[in-house]
Amino acid sequence: MQGKSEQRLLIAMLIAIVAGGLSGFIWGESMIAVAWLGQLFLTALKMLIVPLVAASIITGVAGLGDVRKLGRMGGLSIGYYACTTLIAVSIGLLMANIWQPGVGVDLGAGTAAPKPAIADIGITDLVLSLVHPNIIDAAAHMKLLPIIIFCILLAAALTTLGDKGRPVIAFFDGLNEAMMKIVGWIMIFAPIGVFALIASKLGAAGGGEAFFAQLAGLAKYALAVISGLLTHAVVLCALLMLLARRSVAAYLTHMGTALMTAFSTASSSATLPLTLDGVKAAGVDEKSRRFVLPLGATINMDGTALYEAVAVLFIAQAYGIDLSFGQQMLVLVTATMAAIGAAGIPEAGLVTMVIVLEAVGLPLEGIGLILAIDWFLDRCRTTINVFGDSVGAAIVGKMAPQSGHSG
Ligand code: ASP
Repeated sequence: MQGKSEQRLLIAMLIAIVAGGLSGFIWGESMIAVAWLGQLFLTALKMLIVPLVAASIITGVAGLGDVRKLGRMGGLSIGYYACTTLIAVSIGLLMANIWQPGVGVDLGAGTAAPKPAIADIGITDLVLSLVHPNIIDAAAHMKLLPIIIFCILLAAALTTLGDKGRPVIAFFDGLNEAMMKIVGWIMIFAPIGVFALIASKLGAAGGGEAFFAQLAGLAKYALAVISGLLTHAVVLCALLMLLARRSVAAYLTHMGTALMTAFSTASSSATLPLTLDGVKAAGVDEKSRRFVLPLGATINMDGTALYEAVAVLFIAQAYGIDLSFGQQMLVLVTATMAAIGAAGIPEAGLVTMVIVLEAVGLPLEGIGLILAIDWFLDRCRTTINVFGDSVGAAIVGKMAPQSGHSG
């Protein structure tokens, strides 16, 4: 989406977020009545994810035309993901040490909240999740990582087949264009969807008063997470200027719709269609965006990594357990792994945090302490996750520039 219509949509989205927040704040639970409109928007976006990820990765990789270029693009992307995630966790650790949000917290507060379904997952499970025995089943259950791996292999194979491979690649190219057309149509509905998502979620949380009461109970923790996320946003902007040589204001304007959708849906996967559209409008090299963004939306989660570090230190402080420097380094490594393993869906980070808690020997029940406002912090961290992905596409696009397709 370009120019005037992009600006109009951006303004409509801003108004929708403010109006949604105010309506949920004032009318509370009665706003749950509009939840279905938000659900409709979210479901329409989700409908596009699997075909879009497949078509985007296959055309992106095939467009590189040479396995060595894929290696360079892949290496740059993974390098960017790893570095920025480690920076994010370090900022999270710093914030938790400065704010000390868990000191003096009433442990009884967490036991009142409903416990999350905690699955016992380890690092080997993360590695195993890279492949899936049945690709149709993976698609049916939206397991994006095995789909991405399969599509990279398929595209690499197709490029070696010459004339036989070309029509298959052309098919996926057409599919990709068609999906992006549908994204444009769904975006017309975005302001209504965003309004409904925000108003109904705030309403379900009990309206403005209940929300502020929840926030006040965990104010220091929320401040530590949010100030960490803002600091990381500044780091990402600096990287965008220095490495991708782009104007931050212009880039943010193009990404505005995607960032606001990320905030409203709390899902980087559901936001992916809009992230692709925003980065395209920003003029990022197309092979970079087609390859880097679907991969990033699945494994690159700076906001989640930062939040997990703060949350784990918060839980340790609440239980009166002092984490040594060595243990905090363990948090650095495991929070990075846990963020990679988190799916781009709401509150996924809450579940993969188990890896970090187990690594440093903290009680898993501690998660109960932070549940009350997780729905809100999830939105904030998802916005940073999506921004991190988009900055990655711009940087990789700048460092490994190759052009080809048009859309
Ligand atoms: N909701 C986040 C995302 O989709 C993941 C998480 O941190 O829970 O990016």
